[in-house]
Amino acid sequence: MPVFDLFETREAGTVSIVRFMQQIDDFSHRTTDLFEQLSRFVGDHECLKLVIDLRNTTYLPSSVLGVLVQLHNQGCEVHLANASDDVAEVMRVTQLNRLIHVNEVEVGPWDKVAGAELLRVPLVGYGLTCPECLHETLVDKHLLGKRATCTHCNESFSVTADAIREAEQIFATCPECHTQIRTQRGDLNVGMSCPQCDALIEIRVIV
Ligand SMILES: [Zn+2]
Ligand SMILES: [Zn+2]
Repeated sequence: MPVFDLFETREAGTVSIVRFMQQIDDFSHRTTDLFEQLSRFVGDHECLKLVIDLRNTTYLPSSVLGVLVQLHNQGCEVHLANASDDVAEVMRVTQLNRLIHVNEVEVGPWDKVAGAELLRVPLVGYGLTCPECLHETLVDKHLLGKRATCTHCNESFSVTADAIREAEQIFATCPECHTQIRTQRGDLNVGMSCPQCDALIEIRVIV
């Protein structure tokens, strides 16, 4: 039996709690799979209420929202828990919150590693070398294909996919102490502790 590779489950039954596994960006190419997997899961467990924990998700592509509406149309009560302000706002503006419940149920943290909670943290940006002054500057991940301004010399340069691929330094923000964390690309998706507050975090490419 094929396994579910797009989400993981914490509780499975009449009320189920799931969260997305991969970087959410990938889902836009796997919308059909996502719908197929979620509806199979819902059917297998006779799930009447599906809670999707968005604790570590800041953005939901419209393709994923479409999948959730389809599930709703099949008679499953769909909830988003821990939705960010941005996601909640999108749901409100599009009136999708009439179909999908937003932040009505509370879901606590999932991971416990050595008694501590593992926080999944989105990658914020990359350290790129300014072609003008050769200093490294933090470039937000959303600037791919656009221009970034060097914080050192104020010159702007274009942010290419190659530059991002080759960037060794990555940046994230600790959700506990809000310190900017700078680390190596090799530390992506690997648990580490925040140098400032020791919170156990895992930096992921989440868009
Ligand atoms: Zn510069
Ligand atoms: Zn911290």
